[in-house]
Amino acid sequence: MYDVAIVGTGPAGLSAALTLKLHNKDIIWFGSAELSDKVGKSEKIANYPGVPMVSGADLNEAFRKQAEEMGLEMTDKRVTSIADMGDRKMLLADNEMFEAKTVLLSTGVAAAKGMENEDRLLGRGVSYCATCDGFLYKGKTVAVYCTDERMAHDIKYLEEICGKVYVYTSFAYDLTSENSEKLAKPIKKLDGGLKCDTIELLDGTQISVDGVFILRPSIAPNSLFPGLELDGAHIKVDRNQETNYKGCFAAGDCTGRPYQITKAVGEGNIAAHAILERLSE
Ligand SMILES: Cc1cc2nc3c(=O)[nH]c(=O)nc-3n(C[C@H](O)[C@H](O)[C@H](O)COP(=O)(O)OP(=O)(O)OC[C@H]3O[C@@H](n4cnc5c(N)ncnc54)[C@H](O)[C@@H]3O)c2cc1C
Repeated sequence: MYDVAIVGTGPAGLSAALTLKLHNKDIIWFGSAELSDKVGKSEKIANYPGVPMVSGADLNEAFRKQAEEMGLEMTDKRVTSIADMGDRKMLLADNEMFEAKTVLLSTGVAAAKGMENEDRLLGRGVSYCATCDGFLYKGKTVAVYCTDERMAHDIKYLEEICGKVYVYTSFAYDLTSENSEKLAKPIKKLDGGLKCDTIELLDGTQISVDGVFILRPSIAPNSLFPGLELDGAHIKVDRNQETNYKGCFAAGDCTGRPYQITKAVGEGNIAAHAILERLSE
């Protein structure tokens, strides 16, 4: 079992990982090889102390180098579900289970608002993970809504195993099966009683499906970790960055405004120290 599972490789996750590594903690760190998309996209950052007028790409590269030099290893697995088992937390990432004594959520802010009925039908025909749940829809009809180009291979996988795939992407994507069909509009609403059986597009078109895969870079915190207390769209934390689940902490944009690198770094550091204290109990 790991001491800490950190979900997110942005400035908040990195800041916490550095401190925890200095204290020799056993860490599993989930995120992406690019560390933070958001930092990478910033043209010029003028308010990060000690690094005047740095481009986001350069700051991200400095972050990456520092992580590498500290011997921090990151896995690009995407966490799709977390459960609290009291003194340990279970994390599901790309169909693999991980166990940790504590968790830090540093997932950034979920850019997209969820679809209507998404929460209610999650796990009932609605999935965030093609690798985990794709086989359940072998030969069946599914819809895929994808806003992260890095997950294009998941669409391809679904096209290989499903009977029919309706695809909506926010980026250019070439269908790989003649049984697939592009959706002209994004999905607005999911419908069904016990199970999702219909999608409704922004223009009102309704389509019958057996399942829906929603592939976004970030998942709403309470979908990721059911029962997590929120304050609006953000994760509610105390002064130690601890959530309503003992041993589960959150830092960075996911805890609220201002969305700033310095805040993310500061909260990551507070969380790391609070985690050290928890682990020593
Ligand atoms: C265009 C732009 C310009 C900006 N300019 C500035 C600026 O000048 N100054 C400033 O201070 N701030 C700026 N910001 C804001 C700044 O980038 C954010 O405040 C900062 O990146 C937040 O850090 P974070 O660690 O909380 O989250 P993020 O940097 O968003 O990182 C979140 C990480 O979590 C990962 N993740 C999410 N969900 C999962 C999951 N389920 N499993 C695994 N990994 C997951 C993501 O892949 C990502 O690596 C700018 C943002 C943008 C978009």
